[in-house]
Amino acid sequence: MGEEEVEVVQHDIIVLGAGITGLRAAIEIVHKSLILNKKISVGIISKVHPLRSHSVSAEGGLGVVLSIDKGDSFELHAWDTVKGGDFLCDQDAVEFFVQRIPREVLFLEHVGMSWLRNMDGTLFQSQRMGGHSFPRGVFAGDKTGHYIMRSLFDYLLSIADGNVNFYNEYFACAISVKNNEYRGLIALNMKNSELVYFLSKVLIFATGGLGRIYKTTTCAAGVTADGMAIAYRAGLRLKDMEFTQWHPTGLVPSGVLISEAARGEGGYLLNRHGERFMKHYAPNRMETAPRDIVTRAIMWEIEKGNGYESFGVKHVMLDLRHLGKNLIEERLPFISKLVKKKLGLDPTQDLIPVRPSLHYMMGGIHTDMFGNTDVRGVFAAGEVACVSIHGANRLGTNALADCLVYGGVVGEQAIEYLVKHDPGYPEIDREAYRKTVKKIYDEIYGREGGEYSVYELMDNLRETMENNVGIFRNERDIKNALKKIREIKSSLSKVTVDDKDKIYNTWLVDYLQLENMVEIAELIATCALLRQESRGSHYRIDYPNRDDEKWLYHTLVKYSVDGPEISYSPVVITKWKPVERKY
Ligand SMILES: Cc1cc2nc3c(=O)[nH]c(=O)nc-3n(C[C@H](O)[C@H](O)[C@H](O)COP(=O)(O)OP(=O)(O)OC[C@H]3O[C@@H](n4cnc5c(N)ncnc54)[C@H](O)[C@@H]3O)c2cc1C
Repeated sequence: MGEEEVEVVQHDIIVLGAGITGLRAAIEIVHKSLILNKKISVGIISKVHPLRSHSVSAEGGLGVVLSIDKGDSFELHAWDTVKGGDFLCDQDAVEFFVQRIPREVLFLEHVGMSWLRNMDGTLFQSQRMGGHSFPRGVFAGDKTGHYIMRSLFDYLLSIADGNVNFYNEYFACAISVKNNEYRGLIALNMKNSELVYFLSKVLIFATGGLGRIYKTTTCAAGVTADGMAIAYRAGLRLKDMEFTQWHPTGLVPSGVLISEAARGEGGYLLNRHGERFMKHYAPNRMETAPRDIVTRAIMWEIEKGNGYESFGVKHVMLDLRHLGKNLIEERLPFISKLVKKKLGLDPTQDLIPVRPSLHYMMGGIHTDMFGNTDVRGVFAAGEVACVSIHGANRLGTNALADCLVYGGVVGEQAIEYLVKHDPGYPEIDREAYRKTVKKIYDEIYGREGGEYSVYELMDNLRETMENNVGIFRNERDIKNALKKIREIKSSLSKVTVDDKDKIYNTWLVDYLQLENMVEIAELIATCALLRQESRGSHYRIDYPNRDDEKWLYHTLVKYSVDGPEISYSPVVITKWKPVERKY
């Protein structure tokens, strides 16, 4: 192939992902470049229109310390987070994080965010989410993510001034890293299936999570672990991949989220005897205990035969009837509509069937406290990254705060890196480009007469993960899962993408997403098998206790040709020694 055939797009900084994290990072870059009076061009790549990123579906709210006069404090927020995370959080990062959140909320105020307010105009704060010991959730009904995204997107457009360029419906396939130097990103233009080489000095990963690896999930169709897989293949380490979070209340049967805010506002969980069973599992916090605890409680109730069954799914009930029409309409309008639309139920009159649904990834691309990855010039933030501030179990409302704080931090870091080091543009890695060309056009488009369909393998993978690396885990099941995942991995080379069209070829994109999900599923299972203890969301029936002596460590995993290479690193403890976690 001749050199002239590479389509190159060049920007100082590429932000990969346009959810809350990516948009916030881009805003910070524009702000800093204005202060420095330096022209810095940014390219934002997203496989969907920014306003279709999963961030828009965030419902419940954002946790922030605003009421120090009434008894809240950064220390308390940090402690709640560390305890909620079952002591796997790096405490220096948590302390930094909680202190940075108020300025993000103030920034959103300045760009017109429509929070729910008190009569005097101050922000209304409520005890919306589990594990917080003070009412510190700010929100906009139960469409908080939607409103934050709109505020960020509108504002970014208003300040872009030609320096911010959107590449919507481009699918990132690979990055090139040589000698620990970042060399560029190769993406597929989904509109015509042409490949583009994005040349930049800096890359920011903001690609979100991986919910779709599981069958029952609250996550949007595009939440497929791409960023983690791309980073892993390029040699970046991933961290704490065994910690996948289940949200206790997914609507039956789809798994769509019923926000924790429903319980935060006073909703009950009932078993089929009409009993608020949380009193047996978390008597002090009841329904607002952290997610891992409520999730297991629901599953134990079902195992004891105290559950219901509808649509072939075992579940418990969420009771909002006593909250009354006004509160439901003001604070939970979205889920009220959702249950009416999906099940024809009226939350003021009917019980809502719920069961756990895969929601969030605590693990991700390993970064330090400031979003730096293993590779110079590459940063990661938001759900794709693992700092780690969420440890083994994230508290509700801490993810949106994370995306805003760390989006801002990596934007700031990226500029500092450019100004201090100005590395110049790297050389195009033609070999990596050719490899991707070969893969897409010869191996995927060109393949005929394969044995499997993308969707059959995808279903297999999701079933396997749900049944064997789910809420309750044990050695035998995880080993079975690993075997199946590896079979699926080797079957990928026998998949045919029957649709050969170049315009919006969704089969092709689904194939690429499946490949990413399989890669990451293998890592989740590998790390889950090795961690012989129970901590936060990772519950091993064969090792039901937390074991701080052996396992107060982060798991790190790095690509090698012989399979994932595992190592461990200590958790940073500043103030809070691990104690028994009781609620
Ligand atoms: C239903 C739901 C409700 C939630 N509610 C709350 C809440 O109330 N409070 C809270 O704190 N947290 C909540 N969370 C968690 C929180 O919303 C997410 O962790 C957060 O929004 C993730 O944001 P992000 O910017 O990291 O990624 P996302 O918003 O997922 O954005 C990822 C971006 O990366 C792009 N991308 C990914 N892969 C590629 C690729 N290969 N090529 C090109 N682009 C790519 C996507 O197009 C997208 O623009 C909720 C999550 C869900 C699923």
